[in-house]
Amino acid sequence: MTIQMVSREVRCPLCSTTYTFYTPKASSYSLVRRDSDHCPYYKDANPIFYAIWVCPTCHFAAYKDDFRQLEMESMTALKEALDSDTLGRAVSFQNPERSLFAVLRSFQLAALCYRIRKFPPELVAGLALRAGWICRYSGELRRELGFLREAQELYQKAFDKGFRRDSQVDDLAVAFLIGELKLRIGDIAGAQKYFMFLAQESDTKDRLDRAAKDRLYESKVAARICQLLEPVPLLAPIGEHLGLLAVYCEMFTLGPGKFLFRQGDPGESMFVIASGKVGVYREHEGKAALVRVLGPGEAFGEMSLLTGEQRSATVIGGDGESSATTEPSVELIQIHRTAFRNILMAAPEVAQGMANLVSRWRSADAERATHSEPCTACPPGVAEEALPATDGDVRVELESKILAKINNFLGLPK
Ligand SMILES: [Zn+2]
Repeated sequence: MTIQMVSREVRCPLCSTTYTFYTPKASSYSLVRRDSDHCPYYKDANPIFYAIWVCPTCHFAAYKDDFRQLEMESMTALKEALDSDTLGRAVSFQNPERSLFAVLRSFQLAALCYRIRKFPPELVAGLALRAGWICRYSGELRRELGFLREAQELYQKAFDKGFRRDSQVDDLAVAFLIGELKLRIGDIAGAQKYFMFLAQESDTKDRLDRAAKDRLYESKVAARICQLLEPVPLLAPIGEHLGLLAVYCEMFTLGPGKFLFRQGDPGESMFVIASGKVGVYREHEGKAALVRVLGPGEAFGEMSLLTGEQRSATVIGGDGESSATTEPSVELIQIHRTAFRNILMAAPEVAQGMANLVSRWRSADAERATHSEPCTACPPGVAEEALPATDGDVRVELESKILAKINNFLGLPK
């Protein structure tokens, strides 16, 4: 559909240049849904792309309603700051269809101008949040997290300071947003604090109260997941980003005797056992033999997550010996490809660390095999203790091969 635009002549309050600005007609867009941090998705045109007016000459930027009047005392500071700033250079803000890059720049320039004009932190926070949404639309998670972090810090500053009684800002809604943003950036403990506060506030509005209780529960699950993932050897290179991974993991139960997957199945996730046991079976000529029982804290399926390798064994809930009626279900954490890809996009150095670990484990496996020790590693021996490789060159080559496979499987830049 062709988007109907409305054009308007506007005079810049800073440099007095007059230019034409475009906005989509209200009939050109309709809201489809919103993310939990209110990020909107529209059919056809997206009005937030046009929320900020930017002067093409001096790059003064503001919401449309703030474009008319400008405080005398901020004019010199604004001129100086915009003169030396590069944010608006070589960006076209006047095209009827703004590029995502121009939209991002419009929010960054507006944030700069509002800061100089000494507007309250919650207003600048809203601009940082919107800049984050623009990065989300274009799939740039790393930049998105940077803006969400900035928005969260500014909202927190505003919240700690306390809003004026006559303010239009609803402090409880802001507290919810702070919790939400903290969860999105992987600060689980921080998110819990805000959701707990909201769940305890007696005058929290019903809808907000329910949402806060839901998010409090989810953040508690994420905290437990984070704790369980921390000792997993393969995840060590994730370091400080573990909270971010935990937020995107799933936790579920599997009954005793139930198949999780079969040898040869396609796979793109790994599992960590939170409680209970699973049996690992090798299938050969129609017969399945139990080769290993894994318990709490143990991980499996790493290579499927990293490189999409087929499942190398069959995994069934329970230890294969107890009776199905007495054995409890096993609680599993699933780390899916999508969640993992998010981490590697936010912290690309993690992939290298993992390729290094896996190549060490593989070299250690090969070492053991040449000494004819029985290989018990199954699924792939990546849960084994890391051993130093004997042949450094071979290992380095293996590491770069594994890294290329990881990047390829996850669709990451080489
Ligand atoms: Zn101007």
